[in-house]
Amino acid sequence: MKYLNEMKLTVKALSQNESFARSVVGAFFAQLNPTLEQLDDVKTAVSEAVTNCIVHAYNKQSGDIDIFCGTTEDSLTIEITDYGKGIEDIAKALEPFYTTCEDGERSGMGFTVMQAFCDEMNVQSEKGRTVVTLVKKVSKAD
Ligand code: ATP
Ligand code: MG
Repeated sequence: MKYLNEMKLTVKALSQNESFARSVVGAFFAQLNPTLEQLDDVKTAVSEAVTNCIVHAYNKQSGDIDIFCGTTEDSLTIEITDYGKGIEDIAKALEPFYTTCEDGERSGMGFTVMQAFCDEMNVQSEKGRTVVTLVKKVSKAD
């Protein structure tokens, strides 16, 4: 698929890069003139995906997070890739309240939030590579 515009960003899996990635993707998405609500939805979804890379993929060790964004006339596609441990059971991971964190700090709602705030979500994972793809549409009708 050809995108009208594309952007790639690589950041280290450090907690301070969650807000950085969220702002960068938000600034890119602004080109589509989204509503404030749509902008917030995308930022929240990106935060969740990037946080998952930082918290789960690399187990606090260092690693890269690759973020690709592509726009069509009325949609933003975001691909967030890490090269960490992978998700063993994707179906389970997508269930609301499912978390592998045992310290009680996580609620297991990240994927549920991404799904609710975007129009499409796809998760592909194997050991050494996890890709979360999100699509947000902006309606041109209103
Ligand atoms: P919350 O997002 O509410 O803080 P959470 O991160 O546990 O909690 P989800 O974001 O829904 O919940 O993720 C569910 C589970 O999927 C995680 O507990 C983790 O086991 C697994 N997971 C998610 N993203 C990744 C990733 N990038 N690499 C490895 N495992 C992941
Ligand atoms: Mg999460």
